[in-house]
Amino acid sequence: MPVIGTVYLVGAGPGDPGLFTVAGAQIMRKADVVVYDRLVHPSLLKLAPPEADRIYVGKAADKHAKSQDEINATLVTQAARGQTVVRLKGGDPFVFGRGGEEAEYLREHDIPFVVVPGVTSAIAAAAYAGIPVTHRDVASSFAVITGHERDDAHESATRQPGQAEGRRSWEKIAGAADTLVFLMGVDSLSEIASKLIENGRSPATPVAVVQWATWAGRQQTVVGVLSDIVDRVRASGITAPAVTVIGEVVSLRDRIRWWDNRPLSGKRIVVTRAREQASSLVDVLHAEGAEPIEFPVIQIVPPPDHYAALDDALTRLESYEWVVFTSVNGVKGFWERLAQKGRDSRDLHNCKIAAIGVATSDALAEMGIRADFVPTVFTGEEVARQFPEVTGAKTVLVPRALEAGDVLPELLIERGLDVDMAAVYETVLDGRGADEVRARIEEGTVDIVTFTSSSTVKNFVTAMGPTPPSMAGIVLACIGPTTATTVRELFQREPDIIAEEYTIAGLVEALRKTYAAG
Ligand code: SAH
Repeated sequence: MPVIGTVYLVGAGPGDPGLFTVAGAQIMRKADVVVYDRLVHPSLLKLAPPEADRIYVGKAADKHAKSQDEINATLVTQAARGQTVVRLKGGDPFVFGRGGEEAEYLREHDIPFVVVPGVTSAIAAAAYAGIPVTHRDVASSFAVITGHERDDAHESATRQPGQAEGRRSWEKIAGAADTLVFLMGVDSLSEIASKLIENGRSPATPVAVVQWATWAGRQQTVVGVLSDIVDRVRASGITAPAVTVIGEVVSLRDRIRWWDNRPLSGKRIVVTRAREQASSLVDVLHAEGAEPIEFPVIQIVPPPDHYAALDDALTRLESYEWVVFTSVNGVKGFWERLAQKGRDSRDLHNCKIAAIGVATSDALAEMGIRADFVPTVFTGEEVARQFPEVTGAKTVLVPRALEAGDVLPELLIERGLDVDMAAVYETVLDGRGADEVRARIEEGTVDIVTFTSSSTVKNFVTAMGPTPPSMAGIVLACIGPTTATTVRELFQREPDIIAEEYTIAGLVEALRKTYAAG
């Protein structure tokens, strides 16, 4: 008999992965099996080990992947096999999530379980719409209520209209608290509104319906009053999942709104950088309220000569007076190979180190190296001009991308230096995810495509294939003039945005400026 595994009933929060708890993340990292619902953000699933089983049991209103009985049985079977099971549920597991029922079932079957609360959409949806559920002098209580009598979404498909409402006490609900928060209530919004008015709530009570709350690029809010909210919601096309907040606190949105009124909020932005490098841009865009769509068109791989040139250089590293790093990837590739050879930064003790660019110098600092020379301007000409006087052997090693241009080495050679170049990485096309991006472009759910180098432009175009989707209406944003030139060549049009400062921060600032203005 294997040792029985534990089932963790974990709240995934309302969507925004940043709202997932630290405890939840720790447990995800040791999961053997993750049993997850529809409203769980996909990026949370990546926290589990790659080999963990991911079982989708999501319930949409009209179709459900698994019945509650099947879900219960799955949890017990997996735990009995000794697996660590994470039952990942949207929001908080005990707020209309049937987490309580699952816990009861596990207890009946002697399966140990742990409950990890999550941020419930009931509060987070209001918060992300700029509505505090309580507020001094406005609301001193709030109640969370289901829009359906049975509190899970799949029952709604079988529920007869009016059947649930018939059995509930609307009088009690209407007076339950100052602020009323309804989950699963969009379908029955007209019943909710009319019953609340019948039972004493003023028709002028402010109401907000927040759909896909906290999901970057998806959150939508409609505000009205009890007497007109149904029409407004219908006109907006908002459907489930949505939270309905009813009460005077809703008016505070005018003053407190903060998440969905920033320049980039709701913008759907394709990030074409290599996966290893994408995170800084993805994180900033996300923090700005945009939905970053990761489509790394570049992959960084070892050079095709299997580091032959670098290995050769490494055998006589001490003979180089300078080692010139031209990119973060160059630094990474160089140190990776050094480590593979059982060596480390101390082997560079004889060499002076140059970093072309601030990011490169930061990457060196991570390796414990303070660059001796960082030019103030990053064009090849300026670098060569500013390069310190070289004495002695005059030998320079430039570890770099296989496909890097020859401008810098040639200029250094012109200055009388003896330059060795060694490929430490190669960038190749990574077309994974192209179908999804193409589909999103075709269905009109992409607003902006960002390009952070000429090769991202080239590879993007290649990845879109021989019959690319129309990019009309999609904003093309470039990190700098070189990238912009490639956009003009390959898209036959002027890029919409070119960063003034050729960095990721500069690109984001340019995007922000563009949308703040208009
Ligand atoms: N346990 C969850 C609620 C599950 S019931 C929680 O604590 O949040 C499912 C309902 O939750 C949906 O019908 C919707 O009303 C609400 N909901 C969950 N996530 C939401 C989100 N991101 N935006 C709006 N509503 C959400």
